[in-house]
Amino acid sequence: MAVDSKHNETIVLHAGFRNDSATNAVAVPIYQTSSYQFDSTEHAANLFGLKDFGNIYTRIMNPTNDVLEKRLAALEGGVAALAVSSGQSASLLAVQNVARAGDNIVSSTDLYGGTWNLFANQLEQIGIECRFVDPEDPESFRKASDEKTRAYYAETLPNPKLHVFPIKEVSDIGREMGIPLIMDNTAAHGLCKPLEHGAAVIASSCTKYIGGHGNSIGGIIIDGGNFDWKAHPERQPYLNQSDPSYHGAVWTEATEPLGPVAYIIKARVTLLRDEGTAMSPFNAFLFLQGLESLPLRMERHCANANEVASFLRDHPKVTNVIHPSLMDGEFRRRADTYLSGGYGGLVGIELRGGLDAGQNFINALEMFYHVANIGDSRSLAIHPASTTHSQLSPEEQEATGVTAGYVRLSIGVEHIDDIKADLSQALDAA
Ligand code: PLP
Repeated sequence: MAVDSKHNETIVLHAGFRNDSATNAVAVPIYQTSSYQFDSTEHAANLFGLKDFGNIYTRIMNPTNDVLEKRLAALEGGVAALAVSSGQSASLLAVQNVARAGDNIVSSTDLYGGTWNLFANQLEQIGIECRFVDPEDPESFRKASDEKTRAYYAETLPNPKLHVFPIKEVSDIGREMGIPLIMDNTAAHGLCKPLEHGAAVIASSCTKYIGGHGNSIGGIIIDGGNFDWKAHPERQPYLNQSDPSYHGAVWTEATEPLGPVAYIIKARVTLLRDEGTAMSPFNAFLFLQGLESLPLRMERHCANANEVASFLRDHPKVTNVIHPSLMDGEFRRRADTYLSGGYGGLVGIELRGGLDAGQNFINALEMFYHVANIGDSRSLAIHPASTTHSQLSPEEQEATGVTAGYVRLSIGVEHIDDIKADLSQALDAA
């Protein structure tokens, strides 16, 4: 039996697993197997028919991944989760689970560049329109919705702007109409629990803070179990109508005996089955190692980032520092409402010398790594306009908050004096 706790520090060590049923091992074993022996033909038929639950094939489920799924669902206050091969796959499957050709979703403009590309291009090519709206006004979500809108999508703490998303405000609007809010909580795991504020689903990358060590790519979809799909049969047809891809199952009915898990079961047994973007058990093991220290690391990431933000604010070569601790008005209110665990580890800066100064600064960094990543234990830096956001048009870059001279810092857990020393010497060279 696993320990039942509401505290993040305990959940990440104990939720979903006590010891291995076969060996009593305390560390979660890596079940590096593709398939599982059936007890009999009847057992096999019952597993495929969803009459019994058990392992069939690692593309669809795996005992190591299962512990990660249970632990992350517990951390976020959800009912169940699905581990997938990347954060990108989590976003795609989370949307495809409720939307098809001819439908649309409404998404915040404040998105990771890769998600923007996925929504603006790939979704469009399969006939799902993404309507981008400015999250500054939550009502913009309502205005962009019509009878074919199947989901809202946003990030809790989107960079570069670091304007915390109005989770409750937008999920309230969606819930009136039967539209679930899907939140990417990648930059705020351990700091904010979007499901407690009304979001229905989380679709995040595990690659960043969850893993924390920059060694694996993975994603997670978490079902809040708090959305009444059955109450909206027209708005949510794919959970309420017979599904020809699974011998006519109606997901809200077929999964009823298991609790409010229609959304995540459907994603597993249809989308993951068919699209095959499974997480490897080895990566699930590595994410479990990272997850154990997530709350501790987040404390240090947040403390270091707060100090870096105030240090840079007073630096003569820096014209603008973007960090929730330095915001005021509505953006500060949102940060204080939703980021109960701290303001996060990301800091944006704009340098007096613009593009050239930004590039000189990055080239002069010695301890910070210059990489396309965030959330590593090590400190990282990048120039988004020429890298992560370079495939966006200038107008799209502006909408997401990327200016030519903007530098993104992902503050690590090193000693703060060493972080400040590296920033200081690089600014001297900028
Ligand atoms: N969401 C956010 C906020 C991200 O920063 C990223 C990657 O940088 C992703 C999703 C995509 O995750 P992955 O790289 O694991 O596919």
